[in-house]
Amino acid sequence: MAANKIDSVRIWPSPDSTRVVFDVEQKPVFRLLAKQGSLVTLEIDGVSEPKLGKMSGASELVKSIRVQKVAGKSSVRVLLDLSRESTEKAFALPPSDRYGHRLVLDLTDVQAEQAFVAPPQPRRTSGSSSGRDIIIAIDAGHGGHDPGAVGPKGTYEKHITMAVAEKLAALLNKEPGFKAVQTRTGDYYIYPSKRPDVARSKQADLLVSIHADAAENRKASGASVWVLSLKRATTEVGRMMEQTEQHSELLGGVAEVIKDSANERYLAQTVLDLSMNHSMTTGFEVAASVLRELDHVTKLHKRQPQAASLGVLKAPDIPSILVETGYISNHNEEQKLKTASHQQKLANAMFRALKKHFQQSPPADSALAQWRGKNNLQMPAESATARSSGADTSLPASSSPTVSGPRSNTAKVAGPVLPARSEGSARLVTHKVKSGESLSMLARKYGVPMSRLRQINQLKSDNIRIGQTLRVPQS
Ligand SMILES: [Zn+2]
Repeated sequence: MAANKIDSVRIWPSPDSTRVVFDVEQKPVFRLLAKQGSLVTLEIDGVSEPKLGKMSGASELVKSIRVQKVAGKSSVRVLLDLSRESTEKAFALPPSDRYGHRLVLDLTDVQAEQAFVAPPQPRRTSGSSSGRDIIIAIDAGHGGHDPGAVGPKGTYEKHITMAVAEKLAALLNKEPGFKAVQTRTGDYYIYPSKRPDVARSKQADLLVSIHADAAENRKASGASVWVLSLKRATTEVGRMMEQTEQHSELLGGVAEVIKDSANERYLAQTVLDLSMNHSMTTGFEVAASVLRELDHVTKLHKRQPQAASLGVLKAPDIPSILVETGYISNHNEEQKLKTASHQQKLANAMFRALKKHFQQSPPADSALAQWRGKNNLQMPAESATARSSGADTSLPASSSPTVSGPRSNTAKVAGPVLPARSEGSARLVTHKVKSGESLSMLARKYGVPMSRLRQINQLKSDNIRIGQTLRVPQS
């Protein structure tokens, strides 16, 4: 067996899990041994030197990591002493453009995970007369070991998304009647499908996921806004209802809600459909509103909301949009996206759009709805905008949508948007993944955004396997 060596260890903590990455010289041969108390043991073959190399990062969950030789074998055991109960998963990753061979150990903090996906708390009301705040969940894309797209000058998407998210949250928290919650508040990773859980546990009215785009074509520039694809989403929900085991695989957080038999409301397909139609209609309206505002502060890549089936958008019960703030792969936009003033402009635009949307159609129990009721006669300007924009936002935006409202609006959504981005409009070729290839490498090779490859192949992460067949659009 080829001699292997551990070059370094990187620890990436997040609130509910910790990823420990061992950078190794060869493809690792390893096994996870039976857990003993708080001790997790990973045995790696073909390693003669019991050394861990350079260590970086730290996690509360991992108290200590040490390595020892296995007597009589050319193997080492890496022992991790954990501070809390956890579940473990170990897997190897092939070299990517940034890293070589890796052995990954994912530790999920059992208690923290339960708290993380806690059932929704009743919405905060500060008194029956004043109504509740409108809660906007802001999701800064990527984080931790996942930098997102990397600009030609080395700017990480994860830092841009965080900066814009912080600025948007600050604006919302200053605005009476609004409250912002953030899916991540530091530089750590959360699976895209888990991000809606945070929004759901905070009873968010809307989820806004913030990203920056990248393309092989360095000239590509401008912002775009994505909403959940109606067609694919409904087929996925259909499939999900048939295959209970795959619930969590397909829709992430929603599965927990559906599996919870106490939550009867989610068990009926029809209710789910209605809830999804309502969410998507709202998502589409907000997306269009965000685009109108972004148009004042940056170039637009696409003037219409784009439909995709991305993990973070897949909560059928929470209206969700994904904002690509610009192309980090474009020299000029990378420079702009890095500046606090441009980040502030983007946040201001999103804030104006959200504020307008919810002023026009506030949830019935919100403070905004009550203020609007009292000041009805003083707000003709707002109503006029609602009419002229063509969006019927006067429908009560409660959680029980009427069939006529969302249904009729959904038809509008499905019409112009879906064909533009559905696979039917582009020729597809297949690519069988070879050793050493990563999703970002293939994205560059074929000149297709990574987000598009993820969407078409329904990938939950950027990890691909050797031998996996991917579908690649050819424009
Ligand atoms: Zn991104």
